[in-house]
Amino acid sequence: MASTQHAPMTRTGAFAVEWFDRNPSRFFGFVHDFIPLCDHAQPTRAHRFPAELEHQGRVAAVITHNTDGLHQKSGGVNVLEIHGSFQHAHCRTCRRD
Ligand SMILES: [Zn+2]
Repeated sequence: MASTQHAPMTRTGAFAVEWFDRNPSRFFGFVHDFIPLCDHAQPTRAHRFPAELEHQGRVAAVITHNTDGLHQKSGGVNVLEIHGSFQHAHCRTCRRD
């Protein structure tokens, strides 16, 4: 495979650890703009509906691709974020939060 040092960021590549290791500054530039959007974003019905089902006991958890915390902001408690979350971070060397 050719060098990807200057490869354009893709939706999936932006969050791949391999992409981060090659060019962490591009990742941090992206999240610098993305995190404030998450902080100001409001849940939609698509976020509130699974939370309602959870509170009614009709589902045990909400499993999401989202990394923006909107399921929790809508009242979801047992939210499984399969791609992680921008609400939590840890050091890859010592694993501390
Ligand atoms: Zn550390």
